[in-house]
Amino acid sequence: MAEHESLEFGKADFVLLDNVSMEEFMANLKLRFEKGKIYTYIGEVVVSVNPYRAMNIYGRDTVEQYKGRELYERPPHLFAIADAAYKAMKRRNKDTCIVISGESGAGKTEASKYIMQYIAAITNPNQRAEVERVKNMLLKSNCVLEAFGNAKTNRNDNSSRFGKYMDINFDFKGDPIGGHISNYLLEKSRVIFQQEGERSFHSFYQVNSCINDGADFKAVADAMKVIGFTGDEIQTAYKILATILHLGNMTFGVDGDVTLIETPKLVSVIRELLSTKEENVEKALLYRTVATGRDVIEKQHTEQEASYGRDALAKAMYERLFCWIVGRINDIIEVKNYDARIHGKNTVIGVLDIYGFEIFQNNSFEQFCINYCNEKLQQLFIQLVLKQEQEEYQREGIPWKHIDYFNNQIIVDLVEQQHKGIISVLDEACMNVGKVTDEVFLQGLNGKLAKHAHYTSRKVGNINCNSRLMDQTPDMLWLQLQYSVVGFIDKNKDTLFQDFKRLLYNSANPVLKGMWPEGKLSITEVTKRPLTAATLFKNSMISLVENLASKEPYYVRCIKPNDVKSPLLFEQERCRHQVEYLGLLENVRVRRAGFAYRQTYPRFLQRYKMISEFTWPNHDLPSDKDAVKRLLQGCGFDHDVAYGKTKVFIRTPRTLFSLEEQRAEMV
Ligand code: ADP
Ligand code: MG
Repeated sequence: MAEHESLEFGKADFVLLDNVSMEEFMANLKLRFEKGKIYTYIGEVVVSVNPYRAMNIYGRDTVEQYKGRELYERPPHLFAIADAAYKAMKRRNKDTCIVISGESGAGKTEASKYIMQYIAAITNPNQRAEVERVKNMLLKSNCVLEAFGNAKTNRNDNSSRFGKYMDINFDFKGDPIGGHISNYLLEKSRVIFQQEGERSFHSFYQVNSCINDGADFKAVADAMKVIGFTGDEIQTAYKILATILHLGNMTFGVDGDVTLIETPKLVSVIRELLSTKEENVEKALLYRTVATGRDVIEKQHTEQEASYGRDALAKAMYERLFCWIVGRINDIIEVKNYDARIHGKNTVIGVLDIYGFEIFQNNSFEQFCINYCNEKLQQLFIQLVLKQEQEEYQREGIPWKHIDYFNNQIIVDLVEQQHKGIISVLDEACMNVGKVTDEVFLQGLNGKLAKHAHYTSRKVGNINCNSRLMDQTPDMLWLQLQYSVVGFIDKNKDTLFQDFKRLLYNSANPVLKGMWPEGKLSITEVTKRPLTAATLFKNSMISLVENLASKEPYYVRCIKPNDVKSPLLFEQERCRHQVEYLGLLENVRVRRAGFAYRQTYPRFLQRYKMISEFTWPNHDLPSDKDAVKRLLQGCGFDHDVAYGKTKVFIRTPRTLFSLEEQRAEMV
């Protein structure tokens, strides 16, 4: 229960709802949004609704209000969560993480920036130069990553098109000394195709404006320079962007049985940009080297294959550039030669800003990956919230009562299990000799999963669809998600002809060459099949979840109030849907199944001592704990509470309301 907020703003913690029902939850969420209260707790989880307007709640004065305070002492705020994570890290030497989730445009990235900003504001009181340098790098790296990884979409003008997890390392004084960034699943298809009204990555427009006035790209180039990118590296990034833009204008044609490039001028421009020979570029675009037994032959592309290759090249170059940038930033911000004997323990706060569930009219491979990621995070969330509760009870010496919850491991298994999971079936279909089509994949699924309770499939017209049911909430409400298998095979194989890799590896530009080490291999040396896109993603998700599970988690659940970026509109249905798949009601239930409210004895007394003659104005009992016991016994609430080592636990919100009412009568 957050204090200093009157009830006209609704309940500051959903745990305090009279009844845990969707109606009450939504009414409270809406009321608070309309009153300009964009944050509400569920225990220690922050629920945030995107205000779509500038809020005057992130300034220096607000930072001061939250700094070092306990969660419940101030109105709900991101800063309180950031502070809680920071305190746990500093006082208890725990690695912590802040997991931010929600759909596109819900406010995740803004939240992650406010959290970083808060941490930057409360650390390094002594203004150590080295720490300031690290802070500056961490903040600047954001600007570079946004230029290359964000784009304007119909849902968000500055939409992150990649998942991001950032570790910040702290020394024993609690000051940042470095960091590490992991990126997930960049939406590279955006390089070659954008929905109507959307754009490609910001970086392309910045490079274009560079040609005109230079301002935008200069800002990014300056940030890169400050971080430590060399002039050659920045130049190379620029050249890669230019190459991709030119590839976008390249067309192919046929003359008899010869495939040819209709835009030969572009070949010479690209050759220049890539520091290679014109004939090499031409050959890589028009031919493919294939090994047939011992022979190596040059096979000419059809017009269609050439176009496919060109697009694959553009996507791969961009993705590689992005990963390379992340890698370079990591080289620079990484804590080097960390010596625990000198600095004490190196602890970490991780911040995860990753795409939330995506449910569209037509859901494809990308949505499948993203939603799988969310199933996994959801699973972790429930597990950890329970675990955290359990651990607190243990610490405080209070008996733990088992809580039932929907275990969506079955859904996670459906996707990732060896041999039987959807990803395995997909990989198998990709390795088929001969016929490799989306149809074959669907047959594979039907063969292996027909009896699975969460899988069904059907055919619609020419489009093959499979659907699966997911996430059974305790309300017995099923969210049904349908995916089209069209394009799965191609996106999963994610082929880039070896000829292109060799082309880039053989560039005279060492920076570019360095990005493509596998281009060293000739066709006969390429033996291993590269891992598929889905398997790579699965592996990265498994290690992400392992990493998060090893830390003490804090959660921010972001909700997007409407689709028109309006600060006034709270679309009931839209919000309800999000509350549903974020499992927020379940979260409230878990929190309430134990104890709705807990507070340390001194702070509890501070707030309620006026309601009992034994404690007002001061008590003469041996301890604050005894005083709290006496107070609660006097009010007749003894049956509804448990006394831990340092905290009093109150089971039902009603008791707390009573206390609040009695307090209100006294003050
Ligand atoms: P996501 O990362 O979830 O896709 P963003 O964090 O990019 O969403 O937010 C989308 C837009 O919503 C921002 O560009 C900003 O205009 C607005 N917004 C989000 N959070 C806030 C906030 N706390 N205060 C004001 N505006 C916000
Ligand atoms: Mg974002």
